[in-house]
Amino acid sequence: MPQTHTIKDELQRANRALRLLSSSNRTLLRADDESTLLYDVCRIATEIGVYSLSWIGYKELDSKKTVRPVAYHGHEEGFLATANMSWADTERGHSAMGSAIRTGAIQLRNDILHDPLLTPWQGEARQRNYQSAVALPLIVEGETIGAIAIYAPEPNAFQGSEVKLLEELASDLSFGIETIRLRRAHEQANAHIHRLAFFDSLTGLPNRNHLTDLLTDATTAAHATGRTMSLLMLDLDYIREINETYGHSTGDQILAQVARKLRALTTEGCTVTRFGGDDFVLICANGDRELAAELAQRMLSAIRQPFTIDSRSFSIGGSIGIALYPDDADHPAELLARADLAMSKAKKGGGGYCFYRSEMSQTLIRKLELITRLECAADEGNLHLYYQPKVELYAGMIVGAEALLRWHDPLLGWVPPGEFIPVAEGRGLMTQIGDWVLSTACRHIRIWKQQGLPCCGRIAVNVSPQQLEAPFFVERVVRILEETGVSPVNIELELTESCLMDDPERIGAILTELRLLGFSIAIDDFGTGYSSLVYLKRFPIDTLKIDRTFVNNIMTSSSDRAIIATILAIAQQMGLTTVAEGVETLEQRQALKTLGCVIAQGFYFCPPEPAESFTAKRLASPCLPALSVPG
Ligand code: C2E
Ligand code: MG
Ligand code: MG
Repeated sequence: MPQTHTIKDELQRANRALRLLSSSNRTLLRADDESTLLYDVCRIATEIGVYSLSWIGYKELDSKKTVRPVAYHGHEEGFLATANMSWADTERGHSAMGSAIRTGAIQLRNDILHDPLLTPWQGEARQRNYQSAVALPLIVEGETIGAIAIYAPEPNAFQGSEVKLLEELASDLSFGIETIRLRRAHEQANAHIHRLAFFDSLTGLPNRNHLTDLLTDATTAAHATGRTMSLLMLDLDYIREINETYGHSTGDQILAQVARKLRALTTEGCTVTRFGGDDFVLICANGDRELAAELAQRMLSAIRQPFTIDSRSFSIGGSIGIALYPDDADHPAELLARADLAMSKAKKGGGGYCFYRSEMSQTLIRKLELITRLECAADEGNLHLYYQPKVELYAGMIVGAEALLRWHDPLLGWVPPGEFIPVAEGRGLMTQIGDWVLSTACRHIRIWKQQGLPCCGRIAVNVSPQQLEAPFFVERVVRILEETGVSPVNIELELTESCLMDDPERIGAILTELRLLGFSIAIDDFGTGYSSLVYLKRFPIDTLKIDRTFVNNIMTSSSDRAIIATILAIAQQMGLTTVAEGVETLEQRQALKTLGCVIAQGFYFCPPEPAESFTAKRLASPCLPALSVPG
């Protein structure tokens, strides 16, 4: 084709392309969405460049190597729908667009209507007067992803410096696409990281990290508006057991269902979060007590409905603690701790819901104080053993004594065993304290033996479930006896019924071993626990200690008297010794004797007393003063 353009034309064209470039640069700078960017660049190309059509095609990785139009602007009139271009090296692949994508190089088609390579499109091009075209590859991260094609209504429209500037436009557009894609990838990665950090992957609920922020926002908002807000902490029952029995996947499915149910229950202003494990926390902008109670009830009835997993039905329940802002606490962490305390209280009460009360914190503070002081009590010499004699009711002789632990703390004063023993058990201190009790009792027994103390018989030592659960219980007991030089025949181990229930086979083996070594075994507080007759047969037991609540009521309650009579009869049948606990009056003592009870202990005979006074009194007389009363 002869050179028909004048220098003036050329300059005009280059000038146009330059304006096009600078406009598209401004678009690139502002763009944050890929399809808008593509459209805008096409628009600028046709409007400023005064071209017929600009369009962008992306390459598809299908078998036909299709070119998919993704944006256009200008005089198109259905051309793109029928163009059916490919980037393969086939007849349909030799358009400027297809070739630019395939080769990654600029393609000029300066006489479309007569170019033999463009036969498939010449009819459509003639109708729309597309006479020349340029296609410029779009290269993103080193790969040609598509191209931009521009059509002009005259042949040889794309020449010299204009082409150079259009090349620059395509490379800027490529850079723009790459930047937007990178930005999107970063945003997605950030969103993913955010989701991982702040949302629980199992339930999709905000997690504990997020809860802290949500709670801070909620308390700040409540403070600003002068409203109250409520916090409900839910702890589910049986999830651990379900995990252990049916596997964690079943437990997980239940947790996910619980999350869905809770979400369905909540109204506006309420956020459900997963606190961790089987605990969920609800933040409610409305702190009305009645509404909180109503919500708690709805939550409980929702989770009490059976859950179906793999056509198996599971019934679980839960406990809810409720704390209100600002009535119960004005700091998010405190509010959470208080809802937690209330939840523990509800759980101890067997489920349901419970509002926080200030006494709960006092109890906790006391408990924490006890734990701290108790940890060093033995080392600092603040633990003591008292002894309470066991008396044979007919001859009035002391046939033994029970060792009872006492704790006198310099700051807290005397703390009753009923208070500190459960705390020590909760803290895992009972094994260590139990060892101290046994070795102290053994040291006293040795002294009494050396002093020739009459009638000290067997000394009963209480054993907590935790001691039995700890490994090497028998070995530890034997070592203590060896170290103190005391024989097992001088010791009776008192166990409560709960000790026997957890792992009957293991406990049975331990008791059998101890019995063979010469220890005697007593069941303490008999009648208050499981009172199953089966274990009387199964475990090697020597003595039943009738709980003091029955003895206490022996004069007033015929059923308690009947229970004592039954225990005595069973014991006699099975060849077991019985000891009645808590005898406080002469009448009780006589009533027990009438029923056939042989041994008893209680304030009536003697309260528990320090080892020194116990020793002194026993040295003075093997009998007790109270026994001189006829009975
Ligand atoms: P327990 O083994 O049933 O001990 C008998 C409890 O009854 C003792 O309470 C004793 O002081 C009290 N008691 C004795 N006679 C009477 C009476 O006539 N009336 C009344 N109302 N009570 C009487 P204590 O010493 O407060 O001990 C309470 C519980 O603490 C014990 O009940 C035992 O379960 C536990 N305990 C005490 N010392 C130890 C120990 O060294 N180890 C373990 N594991 N538990 C211990
Ligand atoms: Mg006892
Ligand atoms: Mg008892």
